[in-house]
Amino acid sequence: MQAEVISIGDELTSGQRLDTNSQWLSQQLAQLGIRVLFHTTVGDDLSANVDVFRAAMKRADIIVATGGLGPTADDLTRQAIADAVELPLQLDEQVLLQIQERFVQHGRTMPAQNRTQALFPAGSQVIPNPEGTAPGIDISYARPGKSPSRTFALPGVPAEMQQMWAASVEPALSESGRGRRRVICHRAIKCFGIGESHLEEMLPDIIRRGREPSVGITVHKATITLRITAEGPTRQEALATMVPTVAIIREKLGNLVFGEEDDEMEHAVFRLLKQHSLTLATAESGTLGLVSECLGWLPGVAQIFRGGITVTADSAAISENLYTQAGVEALAAKVRDDFGADLGLAVGAFPPLKAGDEVPGEFFLALADSDRVHSVQRRFAGHSDIRRERSAKQALDLVRLWVINNGTL
Ligand code: AMP
Ligand code: MG
Repeated sequence: MQAEVISIGDELTSGQRLDTNSQWLSQQLAQLGIRVLFHTTVGDDLSANVDVFRAAMKRADIIVATGGLGPTADDLTRQAIADAVELPLQLDEQVLLQIQERFVQHGRTMPAQNRTQALFPAGSQVIPNPEGTAPGIDISYARPGKSPSRTFALPGVPAEMQQMWAASVEPALSESGRGRRRVICHRAIKCFGIGESHLEEMLPDIIRRGREPSVGITVHKATITLRITAEGPTRQEALATMVPTVAIIREKLGNLVFGEEDDEMEHAVFRLLKQHSLTLATAESGTLGLVSECLGWLPGVAQIFRGGITVTADSAAISENLYTQAGVEALAAKVRDDFGADLGLAVGAFPPLKAGDEVPGEFFLALADSDRVHSVQRRFAGHSDIRRERSAKQALDLVRLWVINNGTL
């Protein structure tokens, strides 16, 4: 059972609006055990829309389209579907009355062009829209030698679309026996401190095509996410099939794993400091306060975070040289004392980029505890745009590893 999601509108193809409907619908379809193989986005052009629907009806068993059902000249979805299945549009008198009534209820008369919203391809079903004027279309298309393809066309307005999905489309898919047979579930394991190809090498047999459950790897701002996907007759069973895979990943990667699902590095640090009743203060040069910003938003952060300062490399307010290891170590000890925290974390200055130099050398991180100051040198890697984020995560990771390793690094 394979599905295609079609998003229609010039505002999407021109980049003025982000296509969030496809994301939402794909998540809903996955919960019904229906795999989405194609996302197609198309502008408000009739012949392009007809092509898109024709191709989708050939290759997908289920199509969910959004947008283009309004009354204006650029709303072409009804016509495109009718042309794709080569059937005429017919007026549904009952729907026309309902649309007229909606206008009367709001003290207005129906503009003539709203009549188009009561037109449906012959043989299709109406998907009611309780909140708006645009009803949806539910139409099956016979395919030689294959089961029919079924198209659900819904309005583009996310709230209306979601309401109609829940009231009509989801029950229809479940009822027809297409849904609910298999449930697709995902889990995410979050890792930091290694490049993705190295991480892949550590899991040779895990990230392999065709493996069940499958494991995919994505990187966002230096955080690596392993996304595990499994199917099962129920959500519980699908989740159960992932347990051994998660155990292998955790065993092979050890402390490179910092969390799961929506966890960010700051959540992991927050949890660990709280568990061990420890407090932290920060002094940041290169990251310009990003470490304290990440921590500062967390609910209950006052329990673990005493506060932080941002210092420019050449600030007259401090005597330390933040390009040197000794200077960053001294700053870590100072901020620990000044804020009365158990741990003082310092991020050194980033060396300036030289002309034509993408990789601006090294900087230092230091963590002061009650006994000593630990420090590490970090080299920039990857694109300069994520320098600040990566470095802030590296700084937080130092705290995480210090706690996990009982005060050593
Ligand atoms: P339409 O149904 O094409 O008249 O779309 C109505 C409005 O819904 C548009 O102006 C967009 O703001 C919004 N919209 C349409 N398609 C999408 C989509 N795929 N994702 C998010 N919003 C959308
Ligand atoms: Mg539109």
